[in-house]
Amino acid sequence: MKKHNFSAGPCILPQEVLQKASEAVLNFNNENLSLIEMSHRSTAFVEVIEKARSLALELLGLENKGYKALFLQGGASMQFLMVTYNLLNKKAAYLNTGTWSDKAIKEAKMFGEVVEVATSKDKKFSYIPKGFTIPTDADYFHTTSNNTIYGTQIKDFPDFKGINVCDMSSDIFSRQLDFSKFDLIYAGAQKNMGPAGTTLVIIKEEILGKVEREIPSMLNYQVHLDKDSMFNTPSVFAVYTSMLNLEWLKDLGGIPFIEKVNNKKAALLYSEIDRNPLFKGFANKEDRSNMNVTFNLVDDSLKETFDTMWQDAGINGLNGHRSVGGYRASMYNALPLYSVQVLVDVMQELERKK
Ligand code: PLP
Repeated sequence: MKKHNFSAGPCILPQEVLQKASEAVLNFNNENLSLIEMSHRSTAFVEVIEKARSLALELLGLENKGYKALFLQGGASMQFLMVTYNLLNKKAAYLNTGTWSDKAIKEAKMFGEVVEVATSKDKKFSYIPKGFTIPTDADYFHTTSNNTIYGTQIKDFPDFKGINVCDMSSDIFSRQLDFSKFDLIYAGAQKNMGPAGTTLVIIKEEILGKVEREIPSMLNYQVHLDKDSMFNTPSVFAVYTSMLNLEWLKDLGGIPFIEKVNNKKAALLYSEIDRNPLFKGFANKEDRSNMNVTFNLVDDSLKETFDTMWQDAGINGLNGHRSVGGYRASMYNALPLYSVQVLVDVMQELERKK
């Protein structure tokens, strides 16, 4: 039986997506060729990447609004650099909500002045700062919608009138937002979209062409846009599997449907954390993430018993990030509600045993 996979990333994908992806590795579309041994310029693959690009825009409600979707390589980490290379002239504003924002800030500092508008570092990134001001003359404002490591999530995005950039790596396609408030969205595939190896970048074309520096081709969004995301060989397997996953999501009813399921999963686990005297949540309640639930045992001496119990229940990937410790239950779109119930049962069983 498949494990209940709470891994933070690479993470769970729907079984039917994995099934179709594995069939394509042996024989894609009855072409008698494997997906990973055929030309990325073949009609069959061009159709795949075009479908993946249009599904991404459709699911986010961004069709016909001046946006294009790209499937690039280098992970979300490469976007920390590309964003700044392509958009930073003099000054950029960043909201620092955790390790990933911190890393994005580090890259930006190589290209210009970076204003950290607020940070939650003082309390181990357990909350989302609010009530700060963003310099109106910033070339762009960068946020991280969901903090995978600390389990916090921005619920209300600050209203910045200029260019808004968001790293949505760990909650894209999980909840409804007005995505048109953003000019550039990026997300490493390996959380809510597909396998590692590709990064989705959604970009409003009109924001480009405003920096004076020369941009190396591979780091230049315009180059990738001009070549329809085929400037170099795309990561064909990752793009195909992402496409299958986006199809899966669309068939289910898209983001409005999956958001309801994600809310149910989050409510189930958070209510157990709040009820069960053996556990305490890590993140500030109003900022809690519906994707990555971080929590600790009140009494660490129960760790060995609890760890054995959840592992025996077939649960995988519950350990907190190495920099934080404790536990982290990542509940991406493909994780069934039932898996969360199994975890809650184990938490209740621990309480009974004690
Ligand atoms: N941003 C966020 C929010 C993440 O969770 C991660 C990885 O976990 C990254 C960026 C880095 O992604 P990648 O490993 O694709 O570079």
